[in-house]
Amino acid sequence: VIDAASEDKSEQAALHRLVDSFVENSGECLAIITTHQHQDHTSGETILQTHLRERFNLEIPLAAHRRTAEALARKTNFQTFIEDGETFDLADEDGKPFSLKTLHTPGHAAGLLAFYDAEFGFLLSGDNVVGYGSVVIAPPEGDMKTYLQSLERMRDLPNLRFLCGSHGAAVFDAKSKIESYIAHRLEREKQIVKAIESGARTARGIVERVYTDVSPALYELAEKSVEAHLEKLRQEKIF
Ligand SMILES: [Zn+2]
Repeated sequence: VIDAASEDKSEQAALHRLVDSFVENSGECLAIITTHQHQDHTSGETILQTHLRERFNLEIPLAAHRRTAEALARKTNFQTFIEDGETFDLADEDGKPFSLKTLHTPGHAAGLLAFYDAEFGFLLSGDNVVGYGSVVIAPPEGDMKTYLQSLERMRDLPNLRFLCGSHGAAVFDAKSKIESYIAHRLEREKQIVKAIESGARTARGIVERVYTDVSPALYELAEKSVEAHLEKLRQEKIF
């Protein structure tokens, strides 16, 4: 189970019913995985673990990347750490085997895990690439430079065809979607460099020049994004 996230009791009950039905039909749950530390991905994992213990006497480990476990140390007690490259051998409803390989793809959050089925070309991209809305890169946990590296790594996966992000619908042209994410960020970066060269001195000043297509209500979020770009430019010694 990946991202047993909901705080909502009825959604948790729906997830429990689904997992119960797998277990009752001789399915096995290997782990309850949290992709990353953000609130909307981590609220139901301990409750699911307790449910499976009480109902089936199963001890399913809570699992995440070490960086996620550190960030959530006061909220969730993870028993297993997942590393880049770790492979999960699984089976679908008909018993046909498939495997998911773990990709540690930091940037949106330091410990973000994605999972790739190379045979089908299917990527669970977490919050790296989503089917709905946009991805926030907010320092200090968000890092634009590593985010772009993670996007490139996902784009270059051999046989990549489609992806499911943590929000919104499935994406059927995964490579071009990721390509458009990269292009969008690089375009923003160019605009930010231009804004600085033409005299903008603060993150807010840059936002007002660059994010002219965004409602002022979102300026605070845009400022975070600008700070992430500025940090990348500093790392690359451009400013
Ligand atoms: Zn997130």
